[in-house]
Amino acid sequence: MYPEHHSVKNGHIDKCQVCNSSKLHLVLDLGHQPLCCSVVTKEKLNKPEVTYPLRMYWCEECSVVQLDYCIDNNILYPPQNYTYKTGITKELVEYLNNMSKSLVSKYNLKLDDLVVDIGSNDGILGVEPTNIAEMAIESGIDTIKDFFNVKIASEIKEKYGRASLITATNVFAHMATIGEVILGLETLLKDDGVFISETHYLLDVIQGGQFDTIYHEHLRTYSLKSLIKLFSYYNFTITDVERGSRYGGNIRIHATKGRNRPVSDNVANLLALEEKSGIYKLGTYKNFANRVNKAKIDFVSLILKIKEEGESVIANSCPTRAVTLLNYYGVGRDLIPCITEQPTSLRLGLYLPGKHIPIVNNELLIKEQPDYVILLAWHYAEPIMEQLKARGLKSKFIIPLPDIKVVEN
Ligand SMILES: [Zn+2]
Repeated sequence: MYPEHHSVKNGHIDKCQVCNSSKLHLVLDLGHQPLCCSVVTKEKLNKPEVTYPLRMYWCEECSVVQLDYCIDNNILYPPQNYTYKTGITKELVEYLNNMSKSLVSKYNLKLDDLVVDIGSNDGILGVEPTNIAEMAIESGIDTIKDFFNVKIASEIKEKYGRASLITATNVFAHMATIGEVILGLETLLKDDGVFISETHYLLDVIQGGQFDTIYHEHLRTYSLKSLIKLFSYYNFTITDVERGSRYGGNIRIHATKGRNRPVSDNVANLLALEEKSGIYKLGTYKNFANRVNKAKIDFVSLILKIKEEGESVIANSCPTRAVTLLNYYGVGRDLIPCITEQPTSLRLGLYLPGKHIPIVNNELLIKEQPDYVILLAWHYAEPIMEQLKARGLKSKFIIPLPDIKVVEN
């Protein structure tokens, strides 16, 4: 069995999800916000919209950052109407290809090795609870439409044998069923099998002022210290760690089945860096909160100034993090008339949760040539600016984070 606190209950949370400590400190209160992934349909514009508390807490004991409210999984990850698709982001597809190449070589994987990806979305053998699973199945990837747990792990083991490698990119921070998932990993993995998890990284979030990674799906934002604490409850050793650039900075851990495995120096080195960077100290989080408040004032002031001068501004791309950013900034369609997305996005024709800004085809940018374009997917600012310029966009760009920047075109 797993410790009781590794099954996070729906509703208010007052203990650390990793170490069960009560020494939690409020870092940011982002107000009550709507569900980040429930993009609003036209019909729903006339209906009430549910909001949930969105607060960022830091645990003094293990240095995890977590939310203090857990929303029911079936509400958060609906079996229908989930609109996030990995495959539409070209940079992400490239990134995942590189990741699989590096893992295949590090662990010397052969064709008969079983690799399982959890939260596989649209694209290896996947376990994915939302409707995106059907799209993956159609494109020939063996996908199980369900949440990963011990039962599913046993079924996969029955049918395909044990796995050499299990990956989870951007899902391990989301799960309320932490204990169930880790025991499932143990069930499915071979004796020397490895679990690879990649998530947002607390150090990057703090150093980059990236408060927009805080949304209801991200129950936890891990430090390495907290991940080591988490796996210390189970039959696993964190044997290696890497940092990457995805989502504006991520941490990739290698958790090998079995206790007391040999550990790469990367682990001690990164722990030392975390300590040195101050993420084990409360003062760092106070500074972070001040920086976020300033970022809000700077952003709103700039947009108001643009409006005052009679210039036009449109936002581009609607990543999930944009929901937190615009709702916390309190910016609605009076200031930003629309958000443009690429033509293949499932979000076209829908509205931003909370602020109800319409999401439209990015052809509009080229046609209207606004004075400014706000890049809400600021973590992909460079490639997006290149693509839009190549299509003939002449607008100036506003990059909202980590520090607001106007880029002349
Ligand atoms: Zn803790």
